[in-house]
Amino acid sequence: MSITTTTTSMPFWKEYPERDSEWVRQYPTKHVPVNEEEVFTRKPMGVYVHIPFCNRLCFSCPYIKHQTDRDLTRTYLDALKTEITNYAERPYIQDHVITLGYIGGGTPTALTAPQLDDLLGHMFSSFNVEEGADFSIETTPVDISERKATVLLERGIRRISLGVQTFVPEELKNIGRPNDPEMLKESIRLLRRCGFENINIDLMHGINGQTMESWEHSLDVAIDLGVTCISFYTYMEFAQISTKRRKLPPVPEKAVVDDMFLFAAEKLSKAGFLGYYGDCFAKPGHQPKYGETSWSEDIPIIPLGPTATGHLRDHWYFNEPDIGRYIQTVMEGRLPISMGKHITKSESIRRSMVLGVKAGRVNRERFRRIHGVDFMEMFRAEIDDLIEKELITADENGIEVTGPKGWYYLDNISKAFYSPEFRRYPQHLGADISNFISSRPIPLQLTTRPKDEEAGCDHH
Ligand code: SF4
Repeated sequence: MSITTTTTSMPFWKEYPERDSEWVRQYPTKHVPVNEEEVFTRKPMGVYVHIPFCNRLCFSCPYIKHQTDRDLTRTYLDALKTEITNYAERPYIQDHVITLGYIGGGTPTALTAPQLDDLLGHMFSSFNVEEGADFSIETTPVDISERKATVLLERGIRRISLGVQTFVPEELKNIGRPNDPEMLKESIRLLRRCGFENINIDLMHGINGQTMESWEHSLDVAIDLGVTCISFYTYMEFAQISTKRRKLPPVPEKAVVDDMFLFAAEKLSKAGFLGYYGDCFAKPGHQPKYGETSWSEDIPIIPLGPTATGHLRDHWYFNEPDIGRYIQTVMEGRLPISMGKHITKSESIRRSMVLGVKAGRVNRERFRRIHGVDFMEMFRAEIDDLIEKELITADENGIEVTGPKGWYYLDNISKAFYSPEFRRYPQHLGADISNFISSRPIPLQLTTRPKDEEAGCDHH
């Protein structure tokens, strides 16, 4: 290798064994202007909170959840608040500001209004939560009330997601939902009257007895109601075990279910919705920021509650799923971290690509700012191949998945950016992680509390 010299003929880099006249003292050596704000600004962070309770357990649901129970709920909330305090006291967490959050389940609004108020109050006062932070919460039509909606809005929750599934009465019966379409519509109107502007509803396709016409009807009702976001779910295969027992009409053929997705994607695009994550469609400005920002900007997430997933300090991990073990671990003063993976720098770059594509688009400049590399150069071969297959488009600003064709194949497209090491491993599902966990559940020791402690309960 030759010695390179500057125009002042001063050698700035010499290789061994010649002695370099420049004394190495600092690294890196290329300096740009910085100020106090840049050095001390707290970095953004998110939080995911899991509430594993439902007032009624749906037979088509694979998530780990428990029937709402007065004593179990109280014991769990004590543990959850302890976990929040434990995280909040760590210096690493104090270097960050919470800019977004998601409260999921289960059904978070299975908690009473005072319980929600107490939990959110504890969380917001424990962490450094930014004024106007973007928080979402999940609910069901039977678990939301004016009182709860008011508490959520007063605490700063701006986006609410409602499990509707279908607006067709027979289909609601077939999936065991206790609702009727009028009640579903009224719960959406109630949320709007209370002040929620960003309302998501979940709709299911592939339900027993569902047809393309009935699917179109549900979509039309959703669009007419003016919801800002619609998420699709495919009716779970294992629910079919009960289909024969309950003498239900068959589920639609897989090809019909696929057509239902494409039909809905096209219909919603025409109605002004944009696709995200392959199964979520939102009006511009109402996209679910929790996923979009935390994924594409690689914002760390604090996971709270059993089965919650997060990523902190270069680790992706999930919490202990067994509620008894979770409560015991937290009450012993430890974080209930169960399993996960260290993310190296190169995997962190791939992770932003995989999850950014899953969100539908990757911005070149933002990516360069976060990772210091140009992904368009780094993944040229993969990008060219996807462009040729008409699954993505690219310009100088980055890449965008083409809709609706690309949205349909979003998971396949994301996998183009997996490293070979992870190609053969299945996804971790928050739903059923028993495969990952071999330890036995811990029986719960609950202290029964007097009934009058429940004053303020506003549902059941
Ligand atoms: S679908 Fe929702 S409400 Fe039903 S059991 Fe699952 S988490 Fe609970």
